[in-house]
Amino acid sequence: MLALALHQVGKPLEEVDQLLVVHCHGRLRDGFPAPVFDLHVPSPDILRRMPADLRLLDDEQRALVQMVREFADEVAAPAADEYERRSEDPAPLYKQLAELDLTGISYPEEYNGLGLAYGTYLLVVEEIARAYLGFAVGLSVHTLCAFAINGFGSDELKKDVLSRLCSGEWFGAYSLSEPQSGSDAGALGTKAQLSDDGYRLSGSKVFCTRGNEADAVLVMARTGGPGAKGISAFIVEKGTDGFGGSKKEDKMGWRSSPTWMLQLDDALVPASRRVGEEGEGFRIALASLDSGRLGIAACSIGLAQAALDEALRFTAEREQFGKPVNQNQGLQFMLADMSTQIEAGRALYRYAASLRDAGKDYSIAAAQAKLFCSDVAMRVTTDAVQLHGGYGYITEYPVERYMREAKALQIVEGTNQIQRLVIGRKLTSV
Ligand SMILES: Cc1cc2nc3c(=O)[nH]c(=O)nc-3n(C[C@H](O)[C@H](O)[C@H](O)COP(=O)(O)OP(=O)(O)OC[C@H]3O[C@@H](n4cnc5c(N)ncnc54)[C@H](O)[C@@H]3O)c2cc1C
Repeated sequence: MLALALHQVGKPLEEVDQLLVVHCHGRLRDGFPAPVFDLHVPSPDILRRMPADLRLLDDEQRALVQMVREFADEVAAPAADEYERRSEDPAPLYKQLAELDLTGISYPEEYNGLGLAYGTYLLVVEEIARAYLGFAVGLSVHTLCAFAINGFGSDELKKDVLSRLCSGEWFGAYSLSEPQSGSDAGALGTKAQLSDDGYRLSGSKVFCTRGNEADAVLVMARTGGPGAKGISAFIVEKGTDGFGGSKKEDKMGWRSSPTWMLQLDDALVPASRRVGEEGEGFRIALASLDSGRLGIAACSIGLAQAALDEALRFTAEREQFGKPVNQNQGLQFMLADMSTQIEAGRALYRYAASLRDAGKDYSIAAAQAKLFCSDVAMRVTTDAVQLHGGYGYITEYPVERYMREAKALQIVEGTNQIQRLVIGRKLTSV
């Protein structure tokens, strides 16, 4: 779709001075005009904030990132504070994401996706996370759910569910964690009993991001005996009798990214909604997490970049001892370290994505990227608070929210201890 717009320009992008990004379905929201981008004279603001260094991107990626940057800055960022304050899911923003065709970026066009590289999708996630982390997390879990169907689902399931996820008609969620099985997810207890009319699912799930808002939840449940080999994966549709959110958690951060306890009481799921074979569910869950961890890494770098941007702004404006505080070398060293860590994290997640896009094993690289990038987010957001002095602790300044948000990135999709365990095991396995 974007490629179509570029072809219409009729020249290589390097020879074009301005690019009008035309959305293929013409569904850009009212009041969000098709953006015209000046490609060779980037505004000082764009130069200063280089979340995704435009010089290293190909034409298609550059056009997409520019469009998303505009959406992130003009629509998502101004909305974030209020949704967070109200602990309210930003449903209208998800609708706009669908209107911009950003809900199936890396999935096949046959199923309403854009057929672009996973690395390109991650650039979008980073841009959105820089503006509004909780919203970017929602896109990341949606993509996680779609991954399982695209990789392991039947043709029927792809037509039935993947095409609705990619078009944004439906949003997806991912439910593995249970009250008694978090890191040890292979010990989960939710049961799926085969009957004449499908599978009957019963049990309790915890910590499901957008579990009650999503239209389709990927639920891992036990169809066989104990252990990982007894687990299967299912798509459970919103509104299924006996299925729904039983409690919305009250959280330190990500307050507008709803986290649900889900209850399944004899919920009937058609056999056609099983993803993969019986007993393949744990493998599917882990493969999805490999992919999803890169989404969390991109979210982490987006958040860290936002914190650095705020720290740069504040320390340039704040004066003490008759000069801006950023003129103290001690603070410049902190800013230099923050920026260096962000670039290192960005390079690491992009490297892992390039392995994935090349069809290579990227499991270790994904765990390393998730571990490193989320630790970077924690350090950088903490330093950003420090650089604001007392103002960093006041809710009027966004950095206190960023610091609270960073913490969860070290926990979700496998804690950072579990990432070390994954990396260590692979390094030492014979
Ligand atoms: C905001 C939020 C959103 C989430 N969204 C989702 C979601 O959408 N879907 C979903 O399925 N889950 C989700 N989760 C759950 C998340 O994936 C789990 O919290 C995480 O996997 C850890 O599980 P646990 O909380 O049960 O901790 P536990 O597994 O009980 O771990 C407790 C502590 O022990 C450590 N530990 C455990 N085992 C080991 C070990 N072998 N070696 C070293 N250390 C170990 C852990 O690192 C941790 O520090 C979410 C969680 C949060 C907070």
